[in-house]
Amino acid sequence: MPTCLGCGAKITPDEKWAKFECPNCGQITIWRCEKCRIFGREYKCPKCGFVGP
Ligand SMILES: [Zn+2]
Ligand SMILES: [Zn+2]
Repeated sequence: MPTCLGCGAKITPDEKWAKFECPNCGQITIWRCEKCRIFGREYKCPKCGFVGP
């Protein structure tokens, strides 16, 4: 089960979340929960260390 890269929460099917590839390296799938999206928490790519909003 994927976890949110912003807060570490487990992604549940009944929650709205965003999924996209790392804009820097493109090799990691970034998961973000709705809360992190709303509050604009930062995420960090575990592969290349890219930090994005
Ligand atoms: Zn989150
Ligand atoms: Zn990356």
